[in-house]
Amino acid sequence: MAFRKTGLLLLTLAMLFPWVWLPGMANGGNVVAIFSQYLGMTALIAMTFSQLIATRWPGVEKMFGPLDQSYRLHKWMGLWALVATFLHDTIDADIEGSKRTALGEIAETAGEIGLNGMLILVLITVATFIPYHLWKWTHRFIGVFFVLSAFHYFFIERPFSNSHPLGLYMGVICLLGLIAYAYTSAPRRFRPSRRYKVELLEKQGEALSVTFAPEGKALRHRAGQFAFISFADLGMGEPHPFTLSAAPADDGHLRVSIGPLGDYTIRLMSRLVVGAGARVEGPFGDFALARGTQTWVAAGIGITPFTAMAGTLKPDDGPVTLFYSVKDRSKAAHLAELESIAANNPNFELVVRETSSEGRLNAKVITDKVGDFKGKHLLYCGPSSLRDTLWEGLRNQGLSARRFHFELFEIRTGVGLDKLFDYLVNRYKNRGV
Ligand SMILES: Cc1cc2nc3c(=O)[nH]c(=O)nc-3n(C[C@H](O)[C@H](O)[C@H](O)COP(=O)(O)OP(=O)(O)OC[C@H]3O[C@@H](n4cnc5c(N)ncnc54)[C@H](O)[C@@H]3O)c2cc1C
Repeated sequence: MAFRKTGLLLLTLAMLFPWVWLPGMANGGNVVAIFSQYLGMTALIAMTFSQLIATRWPGVEKMFGPLDQSYRLHKWMGLWALVATFLHDTIDADIEGSKRTALGEIAETAGEIGLNGMLILVLITVATFIPYHLWKWTHRFIGVFFVLSAFHYFFIERPFSNSHPLGLYMGVICLLGLIAYAYTSAPRRFRPSRRYKVELLEKQGEALSVTFAPEGKALRHRAGQFAFISFADLGMGEPHPFTLSAAPADDGHLRVSIGPLGDYTIRLMSRLVVGAGARVEGPFGDFALARGTQTWVAAGIGITPFTAMAGTLKPDDGPVTLFYSVKDRSKAAHLAELESIAANNPNFELVVRETSSEGRLNAKVITDKVGDFKGKHLLYCGPSSLRDTLWEGLRNQGLSARRFHFELFEIRTGVGLDKLFDYLVNRYKNRGV
């Protein structure tokens, strides 16, 4: 899955646009200073795009790709902003002959604080071993450093005024970033969401299946999409992403299936009661049915998008083979439902892999059943370790990156620092033994 080309094109154009005017300003030996100032501008542009993605406004996915991918771009834009600001700070940006005013001094200090603050927050972001709640708490301040950087830009000496076309362009960029930041910082009730009530709770293997009835206008979604759900009534008001695990229903009912993945999900499973209110924001994502012959692979609670998609399969869709990897059948969610769909649709085959008795699912198990992957799609939802193993084994069998679609249930992704952290911890432990 890749970022959408429209978003990347827009971002590239936005980054390059200042060059319409900058070459004309670089006369008089100010080339280095102009380049440094350009780097500063790209940092502001990147921060604005990053803030815009964080709003989750409806156009975001259309422009930049499904939310999990958009959030990757959000992260890379944050990193670029940091690198560009650092370079801008290091490479002399002073235009020859310009005099530093008192306001310019304040702007300079604001820029320094913005850079250092951003440095700390971006490092916390990419260091995914730092607990989510600490990260989330600190991450809200990133906008404050954006405001300081924008202040620095507006009041520092530069070779064009705010009313120059480039000044107006950068003004609009900063304004968009500020609006996006104000929106994401505003109380959640200002965000569009739908109200639901828990109508039914069902134990499904290790998971808890939760069916919601709409209280007012229902959400319209496609199979394979997810929503952010919060349960303020239960003292769990922070929205978390959950896949809508049933096919879209005419009466607007929604279902999610929650697995005991960590602190939050375990707490939620123990607190949920029939009648509890929920706010649902979405839908997001486009992990959807591909056309033609395809293979689906689910591990554990990663079954949720496939239960929704299997529920929408028509007799002439597919053929689809679903591999469902579970510890053992007693722990599998929605098994009876999937078996019933398979019994009624000759184009849908279910292969359950019980890892406790049959060993881990791997590329060979899959190709023994469905043959090679030339021209075929594979849709995967489960842990990233199994995704990597399957990709290693199946790309030799003709699977192309373009046809390998996956959902990892992760929004906050790092840049490999967690692996480095694990490595250092292990080295330290081994030395101690
Ligand atoms: C697109 C998507 C679809 C998902 N669908 C399902 C599903 O159908 N069923 C299911 O059981 N789980 C699903 N999840 C996973 C679920 O949202 C997380 O497990 C949950 O938000 C974190 O709670 P926890 O108990 O696992 O972890 P915790 O122990 O509370 O936190 C562990 C990690 O989860 C992440 N996390 C924590 N809070 C949030 C948050 N508010 N938003 C995003 N990430 C957070 C952080 O990386 C954190 O380090 C999905 C996740 C995504 C991104």
